[in-house]
Amino acid sequence: MPWCLSGEIIAMIIDQHTTLYGVMGYPIGHSLSPTMHNAAFSAKGLNAVYLAFETRDLEGCLKGMKALGIKGMSVTIPHKSQVIPLLDDVDDLARRIGAANTIVNDGGRLVGYNTDAVGALKALEEKMGLSGKTCLIIGAGGAARAIGFILKENGVGVMVANRSVERGQELALSLDCPFIPLDELENTTTDLLINTTPVGMAPQKDQCLVPEQILKKGMVVMDIIYNPLETRLIAMARDRDCLTINGLDMFIHQGAEQFRLWTGLEAPITDMARSVEQALQSPPTASILDSGS
Ligand code: NAP
Repeated sequence: MPWCLSGEIIAMIIDQHTTLYGVMGYPIGHSLSPTMHNAAFSAKGLNAVYLAFETRDLEGCLKGMKALGIKGMSVTIPHKSQVIPLLDDVDDLARRIGAANTIVNDGGRLVGYNTDAVGALKALEEKMGLSGKTCLIIGAGGAARAIGFILKENGVGVMVANRSVERGQELALSLDCPFIPLDELENTTTDLLINTTPVGMAPQKDQCLVPEQILKKGMVVMDIIYNPLETRLIAMARDRDCLTINGLDMFIHQGAEQFRLWTGLEAPITDMARSVEQALQSPPTASILDSGS
């Protein structure tokens, strides 16, 4: 067994058979993907380990994956779009979205997928029926693109609002949907509102881009930020009797889909969610080098 359980202490055995996975991005220090995926490997008794690679060298990292036989990689800011032309193959949804957050190393062929889209869809479907509903997406970055495409495919009437008009209009054009400038949101009505910007996350924890008066009783409001779990938007929406969804559900579901793509196994969702919730409640751990030991 790769993991030995002794009371609360979990010790991992790494040996010549250990399979390596990771996340590449810059910066990466905030990522809870290692916590989540190592908890999943542990729960399933797999001899595998998942590490964080802080790198701007995307091409070097992909070569390294092939050379070292790294079986799977999560891709995060700022590489999700740039990685697409560098891969050997890209699945249809990721190609249409124009961003991949997951790579599977299939015997030396690197294949890209987008699990952000499916993660968001599953988090929403747990709380509401989607077909025929309207959704206002705040933001026009990688996450907004993934969510916009999957919602359209599931019969949702999408609208996009964004700070940069050019980027917002570009996404609206790709989705064939209306664009609303951020400062013209006051009279917008929608069944579902999703914040896909980092506004509400540290150091912008007290900020919110959404005017309070558009949050109506019975609306569904999702913030894909999961740190903090309760953003200013989520708190405001709850006070106005909206149904709220924080970013943890999407994060766990997109990770579960990655786990399935990499291992072919169903993901231990409860263990993954518990590990991330615990990490969000504990102070960050320092590496040996950070502590100067
Ligand atoms: P991205 O591609 O960099 O896009 C960021 C978006 O936020 C852009 O539309 C940008 O507007 C907008 N924005 C940034 N700062 C702003 C500000 N101060 N005021 C107004 N708008 C602002 O990032 P991303 O990959 O889409 O990720 C966005 C967020 O989603 C991050 O916080 C990330 O951690 C989170 N996320 C969560 C999950 C999950 O599983 N829960 C998955 C993916 C991402 P402009 O176009 O005007 O710059």
